Amino acid sequence: MFEKILIANRGEIALRIQRACREMGIKTVVVHSEADREAKYVKLADESVCIGPAPSTKSYLNVPALIAAAEVTDAQAIHPGYGFLSENADFAERVEQSGFVFIGPRPDTIRMMGDKVSAKHAMIEAGVPCVPGSDGALPEDPAEIVKIAKKIGYPVIIKASGGGGGRGMRVVHSEGALISSVQMTRTEAGAAFGNPTVYMEKFLELPRHIEIQILADEYGNAIYLGERDCSMQRRHQKIIEEAPAPGITDKQRQKIGEACAEACRRIGYRGAGTFEFLYENGEFYFIEMNTRVQVEHPVTEMITGVDIVQEQIRIAAGEKLRYKQKDIVLSGHAMECRINAEDPFTFVPSPGKIESYHPAGGPGIRIDSHIYQGYTVPSHYDSMVGKLIAYGDTREQAMARMRVALSEMAISGIKTNIPLHQELFLDAAFQRGGTSIHYLEHRLQQKKGEA
Ligand code: ADP
Repeated sequence: MFEKILIANRGEIALRIQRACREMGIKTVVVHSEADREAKYVKLADESVCIGPAPSTKSYLNVPALIAAAEVTDAQAIHPGYGFLSENADFAERVEQSGFVFIGPRPDTIRMMGDKVSAKHAMIEAGVPCVPGSDGALPEDPAEIVKIAKKIGYPVIIKASGGGGGRGMRVVHSEGALISSVQMTRTEAGAAFGNPTVYMEKFLELPRHIEIQILADEYGNAIYLGERDCSMQRRHQKIIEEAPAPGITDKQRQKIGEACAEACRRIGYRGAGTFEFLYENGEFYFIEMNTRVQVEHPVTEMITGVDIVQEQIRIAAGEKLRYKQKDIVLSGHAMECRINAEDPFTFVPSPGKIESYHPAGGPGIRIDSHIYQGYTVPSHYDSMVGKLIAYGDTREQAMARMRVALSEMAISGIKTNIPLHQELFLDAAFQRGGTSIHYLEHRLQQKKGEA
């Protein structure tokens, strides 16, 4: 096992990784920007290294500074967390070339999954169900493109192969708009991602977002840890996640889970990963794979008892997977609210000093957050300041506990989206479960209309 790990991230996930390490007796090195000097995990770390000024391009994305920090502190491995450099194949390669272990998949796996056309190709080969669409990249010939769209059936969506973060996509409802839309998406993709390749998919009208968590080791063992429903989203940003997904049967779970695990074995996947699917009319359609730990991993931890971050570390250290598929037993229900420093209804970010903080507690409540009273939320990064997780024997109990916990959470000095969560946890459709990825936006629109 490693003696020392460098955490190349910030915020709640830096603290989460640090907790995993400390429990395992591993020393931690925390890197931080000048804006994060006062962070809790910096104080708790065995060592800390300031890697640059506040803007992430100069700090958390500064590869030479990160490698140098690992060198001077004699760290053996680097955990990239999520966001920042976590899915950057060049970074993973640099880490390995510099003699450190990258806690994640092999660089070529990250590269393959980062390109959506090649990722989809690999998934089709492995038998994972995908959204019906073009066979790889769209050709140049407009007549061919028209033919492909006709075969798929409108509406279709044009997607950039190098896209990410919900950008580089365009929905087309009829042939008239097709060619110009393809051209525009190509031009935008070239400028934004340095790759003008686009492909086409059937546009699903009212899907849910359901994803499968997997773990795989270097020896060809792979298991799935059930699914999460992350359909409550605004602008492609998830705000509530839960596990298991309402209405998914054991049989469905086993079928899609096994397909994902088999895909991991085939591509030689290593580490933790997530297969993201759109789910409509009882069918799963692969959209992308995330080759890292995800924000919403705690809901899976709560219902499986598996510490996903510790397993990532064990796998990276070359250990064999400690679990067999039959060891993974789902029990109860877990929900997670992302707590953002923002106005709950206009979504304008609200950084600043936290004047007072009273976290929730009680049975089944978990809070993953780095904030404390007196902490200043910097304006330079993502607005998420923590995650409130509620576990219950049933979905109803998890929801009831979440309502109580939300009412106990008292954060002053900054605005948070807790009032929005409180509304959603009283929403009849959400309480029934199974709302689509457009539900929140529609609801917000409706509210705007009423105001
Ligand atoms: P990104 O990497 O940018 O997040 P994804 O491929 O994961 O891109 O797609 C992001 C979102 O776009 C999905 O969560 C979904 O809301 C929407 N989307 C993508 N593909 C389709 C599709 N074929 N039909 C309907 N919606 C889609």
